[in-house]
Amino acid sequence: MTPAVIVPAVIVVGSYNQDYAWRVAHAPRAGETLRGEDFRSAPGGKGFNQAVACARQGVATHFIGAIGADAAGDTAQRLATGEGIDARWLRRDDAATGSACIVVEAGGQNRIIVALGANERLDSAHVQAQSALFTDAQVLLVQLENNLDASRAALALAGKHGLLRVLNPAPVHPDLDAGLLAQCELLTPNETEFALLLERIGSESIDAATLAQQDDASLHRLARRLGVGSIVITLGAHGCFVSHADATRLGDDSACYRIAPERVDAIDTTGAGDAFSGALVAAIVRFAGRPLRDAVIHANRVAALSTEKAGAAPAMPHYADVLRRFA
Ligand code: ADP
Repeated sequence: MTPAVIVPAVIVVGSYNQDYAWRVAHAPRAGETLRGEDFRSAPGGKGFNQAVACARQGVATHFIGAIGADAAGDTAQRLATGEGIDARWLRRDDAATGSACIVVEAGGQNRIIVALGANERLDSAHVQAQSALFTDAQVLLVQLENNLDASRAALALAGKHGLLRVLNPAPVHPDLDAGLLAQCELLTPNETEFALLLERIGSESIDAATLAQQDDASLHRLARRLGVGSIVITLGAHGCFVSHADATRLGDDSACYRIAPERVDAIDTTGAGDAFSGALVAAIVRFAGRPLRDAVIHANRVAALSTEKAGAAPAMPHYADVLRRFA
């Protein structure tokens, strides 16, 4: 039996990429044609990965994105339907569906080319055309892997309709500025993104690699420099850290705290950050009325479990998987 889907909904605005990954003994040199040892194609893109993570937590999920009028675009539509995601695609005939070419050498070293294609043509007009969705939804989640006009339009609509505005600032975009951050209420950077944001917006230089070793008071002081009400910094195998300007706004009772990592057999951490952000917004809706801390604990579990399977979107665990493992 299909479990009931929880409403109100989450709206995710973001990217869809089709990943094409080859395993090779070594990366080809100029002029060289090489036989791959293995080839796989899978859905990706930060926006779509996060929408899948959210939908798999049993929460109604709308996705607003752009694809080309090509076979990869058809695949995207089919996958969204299969996940029960209400996708509002802008279908462009002047750009290809976003793609990532991934060459993995025997030693595990990656070489990746991303062509964002249609994702860069996602425009504010298409987001505005979906404005009816914003009247009933509870949370908006955006990232930075698409045209930022679309993200800004979505954040403005969400502000007007009182949705909680969440930004996963990945990958850090050249046009990301304090103005865009000021439109958000909750930020979910990883350590590298947090360090980049601090440098750009907080005028402070820190070493991302040693962030998890800093004490809570120092991390909280740094997080407060970004001017966003609440920040959850994901710390990879070290779990995550939460910092609030006002803890009570999201139901917490302390201004900052850390959530320890779950013990898992991690084999592939690709998409762990996407699992975290998608599951966090889903849990905020699922656990309405409870402290943010409960949603963060759930996201930390979903993200940890996602590392036990290969790939990004296909590795996202379902709500029932999380209960079974951590009940
Ligand atoms: P990104 O994928 O953006 O680099 P992180 O590496 O910070 O994001 O991982 C996101 C989240 O995934 C972490 O906050 C944690 O909850 C979970 N996670 C990642 N790696 C592990 C691990 N080895 N063990 C347990 N949890 C992990």
